[in-house]
Amino acid sequence: MTGTVAVPVGDGWRLWGTKWFTSATTAEVALTLARPQHAPPGLRGLSLFLVHRRTPDGRPNSIFVRRLKDKLGTRALPTAELELQGSFATAIGDPLDGAGVKRISTMLNITRIHNSLGASGALARGLSWARAYARVRKIGGASLQDLPAHRSTLVDLAVDYAAALELVLRCCELLGRVEAGAASASDVALLRGLTPVTKLATGRWAIAGVTEAMEAVGGVGYCEDSTIPALVRNTHVIPIWEGTTNVLALDLMRAAMRSDALDAIVRDARESMERAGSEPALMPARRAAERALDEIERRALHLHDDRERAEANARSLAMGVASTYACARLVAQGAWALKSGDGRTAATALRLAERGLVPPEAPTAIDLAMDDGAEVIEPTGEEAGPVDQSA
Ligand SMILES: Cc1cc2nc3c(=O)[nH]c(=O)nc-3n(C[C@H](O)[C@H](O)[C@H](O)COP(=O)(O)OP(=O)(O)OC[C@H]3O[C@@H](n4cnc5c(N)ncnc54)[C@H](O)[C@@H]3O)c2cc1C
Repeated sequence: MTGTVAVPVGDGWRLWGTKWFTSATTAEVALTLARPQHAPPGLRGLSLFLVHRRTPDGRPNSIFVRRLKDKLGTRALPTAELELQGSFATAIGDPLDGAGVKRISTMLNITRIHNSLGASGALARGLSWARAYARVRKIGGASLQDLPAHRSTLVDLAVDYAAALELVLRCCELLGRVEAGAASASDVALLRGLTPVTKLATGRWAIAGVTEAMEAVGGVGYCEDSTIPALVRNTHVIPIWEGTTNVLALDLMRAAMRSDALDAIVRDARESMERAGSEPALMPARRAAERALDEIERRALHLHDDRERAEANARSLAMGVASTYACARLVAQGAWALKSGDGRTAATALRLAERGLVPPEAPTAIDLAMDDGAEVIEPTGEEAGPVDQSA
């Protein structure tokens, strides 16, 4: 939540407050939430503002860099703590209608899809490195790429990449339709559900994938001159910014409880497979995806029963939706590609299905989260920043 206050001055607004994380430090403009003076507390009191680096008459806009964050990766991007000390801003829409969060969510959808493209790119780079190394490395006279255990590792990397790309390109297609005013109500619901699912799943796959790629390149992969350490460091932010895995899983859960978003995903997955017909080679994957869709529908029906249990299971539901939807789309494309003799997409769908699509529900022994007898680090209070971010 934001502690930034907006004060009306002349034909604009002045913003006061601390921005604890700002990646757009060098940008010419930024969008930010702030609470107009006397607006109610909570999310409904927030409005959206556009802030320029300079005022309309060309002077610096009273934005002070308190310090740059000392980050694990993404060092080419200066992320800063900023102080807005009466910075000139323009309100986007009616500043008093309480719709700031709704307005900024348009941008969040775009940045989440952008983030998922970054995740897919990280997987592609890791896979490319791992394949290149496997081609040239000889072990006991054999080429690494021919050793069954290593081949299996490379296959799983390739499957994660294909699944990530499948999800994010579908989001891009839907976003394109929405932006062109050509989206149906079903497209809008589908994009609403798929955006958090895609962002959270591609982030998890990317972290696991680049770590696997580093190991697949052996000791060379651990050395900076391979550039893989930088890839691993940079990828680690992907699940954190633009909404963490659990925050997005809860977002999907709420969307499923209040709207058609999850139904739209299940419907589209089933229709995609139906349109593709009953290609015999793909039937095991299709049947697995259909069973997984039944399981997703069963879990969705019980979301209202027990809120605590629903939240504890939100991540496994969201990860299951991601793998199942990707599998269904790969089944459809695999059938189409098989007609021209290309079996790679079909093989990807089969492997994804074999791995299991919907993870088991969360363990019931949830008390272990905070108390298993292990040492506890005392928090200093600094973690939450200058204001309680959750207040
Ligand atoms: C490099 C970098 C750049 C950034 N740039 C920007 C920027 O430009 N603009 C901007 O606004 N922000 C920016 N951020 C902030 C970023 O969006 C947040 O750090 C991120 O959303 C996580 O929020 P948090 O830090 O408050 O963590 P917390 O919310 O404290 O999360 C800690 C843990 O709690 C979990 N959690 C949180 N809420 C719940 C819940 N309700 N139920 C269950 N689990 C929960 C999370 O999943 C996470 O695992 C940046 C962050 C980084 C690291």
